[in-house]
Amino acid sequence: MTLFEKIAAGQIPARMVAQSDHWIAFHDINPQAPVHVLIVPRKVIPRLGAAVEEDAPLLGELLLAAGTLARQLGIDQTGFRVAINHGPHAGETVPHLHVHLIGGRQMEWPPG
Ligand code: AMP
Repeated sequence: MTLFEKIAAGQIPARMVAQSDHWIAFHDINPQAPVHVLIVPRKVIPRLGAAVEEDAPLLGELLLAAGTLARQLGIDQTGFRVAINHGPHAGETVPHLHVHLIGGRQMEWPPG
């Protein structure tokens, strides 16, 4: 099982934010901003580049969840960023697709 499957199964504790039949959302253990939530599909897709056509609705749900949670967490007016890290150059560390929802402070562009 991936780390995030274990969180979804309740085998590893996490500060849950929300969940649906298809995804879970919880606070990142090493937050990079005042709000840093991970939105993780229950289905294990290792990384974005491994997603297939049939995953399109699920990928859409993850992005819609990011927008909804941003509103619920109070960062939609000030702004937020969503990020998906694929592979070593992006800094991916957990091989289970996840969307980072980050906000609550000013961010830079381009990202580091
Ligand atoms: P990435 O580097 O894009 O693969 O993101 C993995 C994220 O998972 C990092 O931001 C970590 O801080 C986070 N993380 C690792 N272990 C845990 C955990 N047990 N609970 C919550 N977040 C975690």
